[in-house]
Amino acid sequence: MKIKLTKPSILESDIENVVDVLKSGMLVQGDNVKFIEKVISDYVGVKYSVAVANGTATLHLSLLALGTGPGDEVIVPAFSYIATANVVELVGATPVFIDINKNTFNINQEEIESSITERTRAIIPVHEFGHPAYLSKIMKLSEKYDVPIIEDAACALGAEWHGKKVGSFGIAGSFSFHPRKSVTSGEGGVITTNNRKLAHFFRVMRNHGIDDAYKKVEFTRAGFNYRLTEIQAALLLGQLKRIETINDKREKIAIRYNKELNGCFFRKPQMSKHTKPSWQSYHIVLDDSVDRNRFVSYLNNCNIGVSYGAQNIPMQNYYKSKYNYDDDQFPVAKNAYLKGVVLPIYDGLSEQQVSFVIKKINSFTEV
Ligand SMILES: *Cc1c(COP(=O)(O)O)cnc(C)c1O
Repeated sequence: MKIKLTKPSILESDIENVVDVLKSGMLVQGDNVKFIEKVISDYVGVKYSVAVANGTATLHLSLLALGTGPGDEVIVPAFSYIATANVVELVGATPVFIDINKNTFNINQEEIESSITERTRAIIPVHEFGHPAYLSKIMKLSEKYDVPIIEDAACALGAEWHGKKVGSFGIAGSFSFHPRKSVTSGEGGVITTNNRKLAHFFRVMRNHGIDDAYKKVEFTRAGFNYRLTEIQAALLLGQLKRIETINDKREKIAIRYNKELNGCFFRKPQMSKHTKPSWQSYHIVLDDSVDRNRFVSYLNNCNIGVSYGAQNIPMQNYYKSKYNYDDDQFPVAKNAYLKGVVLPIYDGLSEQQVSFVIKKINSFTEV
């Protein structure tokens, strides 16, 4: 039987919740959406959560809320899912890429300060693969230069920095519920914030610009349709209630990989101190001498599903041709992009399956 890279955690009870919505006839942005917003606010430890259509929409609205536009710069890591940079382009601003830390795959906090200019409108640290970015330093820079932080926590619901949940540090926190994340609504996202004005902006902008502070339908902005459906919210609800169990199971697998993989021909992820990752992915980086295609097809032949991690964004066609980046400009990101592999990790993976993956990887060099 094939071991998948990932599989959503969907129980019978989750399916029943969805069926209940279908029977009710109330399909978009109703009580289930309100309920998941409340659950996420309580869990992350923020005043407001606003559910939207996907993670990319959360980043897009956050940049718009800060008034980001042409002439502005937004600092982003060079290695992330490409959406982190695309949203900057989509509001007409310029992404300023920073290389990543070799061990955590997160934005290198020591390289941010020299890229802050008068035009820096925001910094978007990504908690890549569910590992918190170095928030103490990043928040200090935010204060020193009065530049707001939008946390791209797409992969990181439940992750903690010094005992505090990510998504509660910046002016806005962005979460995704795409099936590749630990909990999923099919497509979906939530923006967390402690800022009442921002929360209001998000609510208006997700719903065609309708301001519900008025008694009648009043269109106060040119908004989007970025609404989440009740079907999606109902699917997510049960997973949110058991998120600690889901994340614990993922952590157990990561701990086993950390301990039992021999790491003879690759680098394992290393965490900053005082972090609790949510382990969206377990990402390793192969040594230069190892052919990634060979490693991946070896694992595929063993019936083990693996994939690549994230992109070195400045090396992607659009960015490279627009800004003329040199492939070697972000060497750590380039290395992670060309040599990174993510291993199976999800709550339904059995102990035996994990043992099998470990055994096969450890014997790769002998093949
Ligand atoms: C998944 C992801 C996104 C985009 O989320 P979608 O829900 O797919 O739009 C953005 N940033 C990062 C880091 C992600 O992993």
